[in-house]
Amino acid sequence: MKYALVTGGSRGIGRACCVKLAGTGHKVIINFRTNQQEAEKTLEIIRGNGGEGEIMKFDISKPEEVEKALSAWIQQHEGDYISVLVNNAGIRKDALVMWMKDDEWLDVINTNLNSFLYVSRLLIKDMLLNKFGRIINVVSLSGLKGLPGQANYSAAKAGVIGATKAIAQEVAKKKVTVNAVAPGFIRTDMTRDMDENQLKAMIPMGRFGNPEEVAGIVGFLASEEASYITGAVINVNGGLYT
Ligand code: NAP
Repeated sequence: MKYALVTGGSRGIGRACCVKLAGTGHKVIINFRTNQQEAEKTLEIIRGNGGEGEIMKFDISKPEEVEKALSAWIQQHEGDYISVLVNNAGIRKDALVMWMKDDEWLDVINTNLNSFLYVSRLLIKDMLLNKFGRIINVVSLSGLKGLPGQANYSAAKAGVIGATKAIAQEVAKKKVTVNAVAPGFIRTDMTRDMDENQLKAMIPMGRFGNPEEVAGIVGFLASEEASYITGAVINVNGGLYT
């Protein structure tokens, strides 16, 4: 059985990644923080398509919680390992720097950047031992270009991009690849408060993307076919920024 863990699999881009990976034969571990109902809905969709999965609650920004949940899974699955990790969960807490509070900075850095270490370090060892692994980090246009009002979020996502490139080189010899996918504006709960009509005027394709359009490239990067792609950052942004 091939196992894939998707952080923040309960909604949005994470849900679409779960469905995609289940469709390519992975048993998907759907992580969530609070929204169990939505996580169960993701599982229902997977099962409805004939796939398999399970839900797993932990807060990716809390190292003790991550360690407890994943160590328990590893202990209960001797002989198996999680070969695909999609570091997807993330939050925004936008503010101009002159108004930004410590917690707005720290929560976004902890959830979007530090979590990358907390989750990845626990799963990398088995990927190396088994000489196959895929780590796919969902970053953002904001981490490449920087967006006003998002210094915290841009810094966190840029940090993950740097880590992606560094770790890709650490593990390449053992056939473990590490890549990042950088969405532009995607229609999810995260962008619900944005003025789509105004923003879409800036996007060459003239529209927001759908979660499935991000999941498509995540599914490819997770596949055997993507074996020679590592340390890459792939834009999914309708031509907004290259
Ligand atoms: P979303 O609809 O707001 O969903 C966020 C997901 O992350 C939910 O499943 C949520 O779980 C989970 N989550 C948040 N904090 C968590 C934590 N501390 N521990 C565990 N899970 C946590 O967001 P989205 O738009 O799908 O975004 C997914 C990723 O894409 C994020 O990294 C985001 O930064 C990135 N991104 C999004 C866009 C966009 O336009 N939407 C653009 C660029 C990048 P609960 O359901 O339990 O709350």
